[in-house]
Amino acid sequence: MRAAYFSVAVFFVTFIGAKESTSYTGKDYSCDPSVCDDVPDLDCMCARLNPPGGLSPDDVPQFVILTADDDVTSVTHPPMVAITKGHTNPDGCPIPTVYYVSIRYTEMDLVNQLYKDGNEIADHTVGHKGFPSEEQINLARKDIAEYTDIPQESIVGFRAPFLKSKPATRRHLYENGFTYDSSITEQAGDGILTEASMRQKLWPYTMDFGIAQNCQTAGDTKCNELERYPGLWEIPMLDLQNEYGASIASMDPVNGNAFDLYMRDFQRSYTGDKAPFGMYIHPSWLLAEKSRIEGVNRFFSNITALDDVWVVTNQEIIEYMRKPMKKEEYRAMRESRACGRSSFVSKAVPHKLKLTAF
Ligand SMILES: [Zn+2]
Repeated sequence: MRAAYFSVAVFFVTFIGAKESTSYTGKDYSCDPSVCDDVPDLDCMCARLNPPGGLSPDDVPQFVILTADDDVTSVTHPPMVAITKGHTNPDGCPIPTVYYVSIRYTEMDLVNQLYKDGNEIADHTVGHKGFPSEEQINLARKDIAEYTDIPQESIVGFRAPFLKSKPATRRHLYENGFTYDSSITEQAGDGILTEASMRQKLWPYTMDFGIAQNCQTAGDTKCNELERYPGLWEIPMLDLQNEYGASIASMDPVNGNAFDLYMRDFQRSYTGDKAPFGMYIHPSWLLAEKSRIEGVNRFFSNITALDDVWVVTNQEIIEYMRKPMKKEEYRAMRESRACGRSSFVSKAVPHKLKLTAF
């Protein structure tokens, strides 16, 4: 199978790769925008170290994604309110959070309220075990829909507990109509794809041409360009870097104070390729050290003062990737609509990419 792929790839590069390509090409991953990004109505996006739609980094908005994992309870809720309340996007609307909800101790009335307030609710399984079964993934989505007013088709994203995923996990998502996964970390430094300076970071992409990452922290290294899920998005979890440039885990970062950690890496994105900047936390991280709440608040106060920075949900990121636009257009679009959730279109039936056409 590998030999067959390479013969296709060689042919592909020879006849199509001659034209200018804006997508990332590294290791054995290869994706040409002319058969992916540029095809109308095809939910396909090459992995890339630059903005979509041929736009320059100077012209596009900087997106920030705040995510909170695990059970939603009356203990975990207050610290999340403490870091988001009072901060608004350039259109004056509240900043949202993406909640990856596991079911065990979750209070569904809180989940319902979070959704109504414009936050995104995503799947983090029922029992919170790594390498979850298909049943664990599907049942969580079903339970949330059943015990809240949230339509099942609004729950389109997934994160693996402990970030432990493998090919079967992603296949479950693909076969069950999920729109995206956000479990694969992306490091800076040797042996990984994003540039060591972290000024050129990996943007979200669909897995039509496989996975453009090495999955080294996923607990299963079987992850490469041959693992293909047409139309299923990967929203990479970008690592942070410390002051010496070493890659550090971005989930619940502990290496330094929260403001410095986030601001340093935010600046790298903002002055780099503008890849969406991620803040991945558990509410318990905030509870463990109160200075983190102050640090994150200070960070949000600083970045929300910029008129081209938007804290968004993953669904909003994918909407943007599907229809890229300049930051002025984006702001006009946002200001023309009411606060709250946009009507995200879940493409529950994945498309089939015909590689044999080459
Ligand atoms: Zn978790």
